[in-house]
Amino acid sequence: MSVVDEVKQRIDIVEVVNQYVRLTKSGRTLRGLCPFHSEKHPSFFVYPEQQSWHCFGACNTGGDVFSFIMKKEGTDFGETLRLLAQKAGVTLSTKSEPKAKEKDRLYQVNQAAAQYFHDLLLRSPESEKARSYVASRGLSLKTVTEFQLGFSPNKWEGLKQHLLDIGYTEAELSTAGLVIESEGGETHDRFRNRLMFPICDIRGQITGFGARALDDSSPKYLNSPQTPNFDKSSSLYGINLAKAAIRQQNMVVIVEGYMDTITAHQNGFSNVVASMGTSVTEKQVGAIKRLTKNMVFAFDFDTAGKEAMLQAERTSTEALDKDTIALPYRDPNRPPPPLDEAQVRQDQKRQRIVTYAGIPDVEIKVLILPEGKDPDDVIKEDAKIWRNLLEEALPIVDYTFNMVTAKLDLNTAKDKSSAVDKLLPIIAEIKDTVRQAHYLQKLARLVNVTERNLEAASKRIKPSQGRRQAEEPRQEAIAQALRPVFSSPLEEYCLALLLQHPELKGLSQHPLPEHFENSENREIFVAWQKVDDLSSLKEELDPAIREYVDYLVTKSLLPNQIEEKYADCILNLRKEFLRSLEAKREAALALEAELGGTAAELAKLEEQGIEVSVQLGEVFAEKGRKVRSKGGEK
Ligand SMILES: [Zn+2]
Repeated sequence: MSVVDEVKQRIDIVEVVNQYVRLTKSGRTLRGLCPFHSEKHPSFFVYPEQQSWHCFGACNTGGDVFSFIMKKEGTDFGETLRLLAQKAGVTLSTKSEPKAKEKDRLYQVNQAAAQYFHDLLLRSPESEKARSYVASRGLSLKTVTEFQLGFSPNKWEGLKQHLLDIGYTEAELSTAGLVIESEGGETHDRFRNRLMFPICDIRGQITGFGARALDDSSPKYLNSPQTPNFDKSSSLYGINLAKAAIRQQNMVVIVEGYMDTITAHQNGFSNVVASMGTSVTEKQVGAIKRLTKNMVFAFDFDTAGKEAMLQAERTSTEALDKDTIALPYRDPNRPPPPLDEAQVRQDQKRQRIVTYAGIPDVEIKVLILPEGKDPDDVIKEDAKIWRNLLEEALPIVDYTFNMVTAKLDLNTAKDKSSAVDKLLPIIAEIKDTVRQAHYLQKLARLVNVTERNLEAASKRIKPSQGRRQAEEPRQEAIAQALRPVFSSPLEEYCLALLLQHPELKGLSQHPLPEHFENSENREIFVAWQKVDDLSSLKEELDPAIREYVDYLVTKSLLPNQIEEKYADCILNLRKEFLRSLEAKREAALALEAELGGTAAELAKLEEQGIEVSVQLGEVFAEKGRKVRSKGGEK
């Protein structure tokens, strides 16, 4: 979830507006005197359910909490975000790059820490237990040195004292995540009594640490926190030692754990890196794409993988996703549907696969591990088995075919349709048209229907919405619950089209900024009119929404009939806008009638309603014309 969504989720528009306007409530709507124009009779309404506002008076405009503050305080989007984030208690990561010098200093302090841990592991009497653990895992001294494994002693200030002694400051230790600050402002070592795995970037600079408990402390694995140098979701363990082999073999094998990587390297499989216990993130794929486009994922997709994926969903955005799952809806009258954990995992797994399948110019294969074993076990048992498994790795879409159809009886109509429901959205996501056609053919053969029928069905799936359309109602409910509350698929889809196809800017028909209900979408739409390319667009926008732009730019869209889709989008946005306006006006009208509005006010609202109806009529007429002209072509 983006920081903007998080702020919106925590902020209540009623509370915010209440600080400027005295609101009177009735039912689910509130009204007050408009703070933007002078009036005697209130025509300003707030809708807690939609977290939006609208003035039916002189302003005749509305929006969300962001647009309210922007209009009221005259702030730009970024300033508004900071203001509201502070109110909501959301910390904004300062995306401004720390100076190169500062970063260098952090690499150095990490290097000094790694050296300290490493020396202790090799020589200190207190590392006896760590050394015997390393020996029990069969690691050679050469491997221990190559990976610079270490031991953090069971002391509160062992590392801290050492680093202070050699000239680092407490602030540097803290920024590097090597110490933890307690409530009283005292700091102590983060890693104690653990086997230490320094994590390097591709150039071999130590960015952070992974640490395995040597007793039964929890958690078993502990990582450095996010720092200016360390971002777990984009790091790959072992990449510094694997890069040459990856280039040479034009293939990377991605495993889950530190030990899997180390054992692989020790046995001559040097193109192996670890995603560090999480499923592979798009950032990681992006980082490795520069070395090779052939990736093999070697983790158990069916059992442990599920767990890891669930973890990934939660940790990849620094626990924000967890909030999406855990936070109740604001409106107590509409609780979220109960979440079935297993079902959620299954959904997320499929979602991942859909995402992986949609990554362009990358061939992702899945290595199927023997039940209950991880790469570490397999390689140690027999390197030949590992080699065979690698050779038998299946492209991820084929793997999904097997997985989906294994439990189905494709002689029955019900199971055929279930196979199509599950596989078609994944196929629709594939960007490469040749590969897409290949899998359409495969599915057609499998369920024994004509390819043309399937193709027609796949075209009806819009990538942004297709998944949801194809899901069963229950999954639909879960997907809804997991979705950031404020996302609007239609707005996102329209922006993704625009950003990915700059040629659309040349067309004469466009949506109006107000047709985007989400302020950040509106912000991006308006900024895109002013600039020519994506990098200028990002410069134009607040850092907090740049990542969201990246998401929109990489969203996979079917490459056909772009102009037509855009035209549909414009119409649909307008329709949605008018419908929502209509609903708001009706709620306002009901409130007016209840609180005893004057006849003139009621008449005015009615009149506006007629205007909206006329416009909606126009939209439907135009949609009708389009459908007829499409029919005429055939
Ligand atoms: Zn007004």
